[in-house]
Amino acid sequence: MAETHFDVGIVGAGPAGLACAIECERRNLSCLVFDKGCLVNSLAHYPVNMVFFTTPELLEIGDLPLVCAREKPSRLEGLKYYRRVAETYALNIHQYERVLGIEGSDGKFVIKAGNRLGQEASYAARKIVVATGYYDNPNVLEIAGEDLPKVSHYYMEAHPYFNQDVAVIGGKNSAIEAALELYRSGARVTLIYRGSELGGSIKYWIKPDIENRIRNNEIAAHFNTRVLEIAPDSILIEDSRGRARLKNDFVFALTGYHPDRTFLQTLGIDLDPEDWKPKMHPETFETNVPGIYMAGSVVAGLKNNEIFIENGRFHGKAIAQHLKNHL
Ligand code: NAP
Repeated sequence: MAETHFDVGIVGAGPAGLACAIECERRNLSCLVFDKGCLVNSLAHYPVNMVFFTTPELLEIGDLPLVCAREKPSRLEGLKYYRRVAETYALNIHQYERVLGIEGSDGKFVIKAGNRLGQEASYAARKIVVATGYYDNPNVLEIAGEDLPKVSHYYMEAHPYFNQDVAVIGGKNSAIEAALELYRSGARVTLIYRGSELGGSIKYWIKPDIENRIRNNEIAAHFNTRVLEIAPDSILIEDSRGRARLKNDFVFALTGYHPDRTFLQTLGIDLDPEDWKPKMHPETFETNVPGIYMAGSVVAGLKNNEIFIENGRFHGKAIAQHLKNHL
């Protein structure tokens, strides 16, 4: 029979959750990692041709080198790397098993989980680490037509949009990268941004490209503009001059993402009402719920430009050290 008692139950098999599992195993703490999707599920759902903004050593965990062909790793190289990490450390990962709830208290938690077949199981864990990130929950526009099949909050690749009218909503890195790739693949791209100009957080090697495409009228851009409604063949936009209806085939609303607040609150974790940052010890990452820790980008709440793989990967070491001293 499969083992059902662990020292540490980790929710989320992203880089932060994996780093935490490695650090726990190194201290002889038994771990079970859950993910409702696949290994590094968020990375798997990044754009197919994505190249990380960062150099490989900043994505490394468990002291394993990430080898890449160019200066910065691609999504594919990242996926390959984290598979290798999971294999090398023989991490105990239950993919496609969603944590439905966690009961009990410090030292004797019970994790209830359900798999793809609808089968439920319970696991005992002395401590819990929540490393659920934020990429599963897009910021929705709450407008009519947002649920149409032509609308997506995730951009994967450009080819299906050749010779189509595509609106990209948002004005930061995801929106700009998608707009450029779509344009270069023959889509007629309209960028719609609520801000007055493209901001400084756009990477310095991307910004001149989009600015030139807009200047040359290769990508149509509407600033200080909101989308009011999405219809099957058009979108309705509004700026200070009034409203206009644009012909449209597809919409990418790349409006950012946020953590699963309901899940965190169900666990009893107190979140700041403004920025959703958890109440927790800044060095040990233990939350206001004794025995429940948080790791990775979920720690930043809505400020998801503060914690990335690059810094979230270190949370596991601090947590594992604290756990070792308190188990
Ligand atoms: P983001 O940085 O949160 O940007 C979201 C954009 O959507 C912002 O321009 C925001 O407007 C706009 N927005 C949010 N809510 C809106 C609403 N209700 N209506 C209209 N517009 C709305 O999200 P992101 O661009 O997806 O980036 C997420 C993270 O991924 C960042 O850390 C980014 O650096 C990273 N990233 C990495 C790569 C890479 O490594 N290659 C590529 C892309 C992104 P405001 O500007 O007014 O806030």
